[in-house]
Amino acid sequence: MIFHHKISAALVFTAIAMSAPLHAAATVDSVVLANAQQQKSKLLDTLNDLVSIESGSGDREGLDKISAYIADRFKALGGKVEFIEPGADSYRMHDTPARIGRMVQATFEGTGSKSILLIAHMDTVYLKGMLAKQPFRVEGNRAYGLGISDDKAGIATILHTLTMLKAMNFREYGKITVLINGDEEISSPASRSVFTRLGAQHDLTLSHESSSSTSDHLSLATAGIAAVTLKVTGRASHAGAAPERGLNAVYEIAHQMLQTRDFSDPAKGIKMNWTMVSGGTNRNVIPAEATAAADVRVERISDYDGVEQKVRAAIKNQLIPETKVAMSFERRRPPMESSPAGLTAANYAKQIYTEIGRTLGVSSGISGGGTDAAFASLATKNAVIERFGLLGFGAHSNDDEYILIDSIEPRLYLATRMIIDFSRGLVK
Ligand SMILES: [Zn+2]
Repeated sequence: MIFHHKISAALVFTAIAMSAPLHAAATVDSVVLANAQQQKSKLLDTLNDLVSIESGSGDREGLDKISAYIADRFKALGGKVEFIEPGADSYRMHDTPARIGRMVQATFEGTGSKSILLIAHMDTVYLKGMLAKQPFRVEGNRAYGLGISDDKAGIATILHTLTMLKAMNFREYGKITVLINGDEEISSPASRSVFTRLGAQHDLTLSHESSSSTSDHLSLATAGIAAVTLKVTGRASHAGAAPERGLNAVYEIAHQMLQTRDFSDPAKGIKMNWTMVSGGTNRNVIPAEATAAADVRVERISDYDGVEQKVRAAIKNQLIPETKVAMSFERRRPPMESSPAGLTAANYAKQIYTEIGRTLGVSSGISGGGTDAAFASLATKNAVIERFGLLGFGAHSNDDEYILIDSIEPRLYLATRMIIDFSRGLVK
């Protein structure tokens, strides 16, 4: 009985597979899976190495060290590796450090025609010295470390995906380019132009930020973030003896914030909110200076200009005309809008995931922060997909950042199968 059941089950299975040749997907690629399994503990070793090198965005020394490590790893895989120093065209913002981290670019030439860009970042939000109290550690299904999820897991995923392709001797891609930057957490002042150039030169871009530990998904859209900064200069004077000789910068900045407080446009997804303000030096001095900052979010890049012009026009109306009002509008990150090509590729990824019995979500709505995928998608209609890293938790949390160890195999399987099928022209 049991024997017969097995035969008929096998026949049914074959019939299903043959009836849907385009989606032979339902069967697992056992070679890729076995390779993913082999890489699991090795990827954890790589993560240990990566989080043991402190690499805050403002720590050029640390960034030099980790970029040297990453460069060596890509060289060992046969890549042509170069460092890219921040250029004179860097977009400097108020928090851009004097010395921005260099980028690591690795190129792998194949025998096919498709070009694929893989990106992740090596810098973290953490300050030098924090590592001593929080070294790499494994607890159950979690591997902890500062920056492990954001975004050292992304670098490790790329390294071990390429290791798998090499182990399988797969070279049917035309070219795989890897770019690892060291300035993501400060809105990519130097790498933004490189991402946009490379994004336009490749047929597919996979960006390796982590997915959430509670929702295994890819993202096709990310938020656009800008910052408005106002600086008012007035004149100090004794608040008791001669207040009339002063120009109160705090009154002026309050007036400016209030008259621009309704510039959000929910229907268009535009948000503008004043979030920081400071002014004055002493209780008994009419304040000579005041500053304020507003957080701006847009869903379409074209909306930046409208918001900036509206604020610039509004601030001409002053409460105290003799004060000086200066404004800066920093485009920290463009939004990434969901594209048809991105959706097609993400749906293909979903199907790959079913081969190993897992369900992958695809989010086309804007949520969370901005990422470098947005710079990569600025000048191309080709597919750009975010969250090809591991499943993680606690980015920027100071003391509770980890990745889920059981996401390593499925995510390596996914990334590797995606590159193989895209190279073969099957992703459409
Ligand atoms: Zn990140």
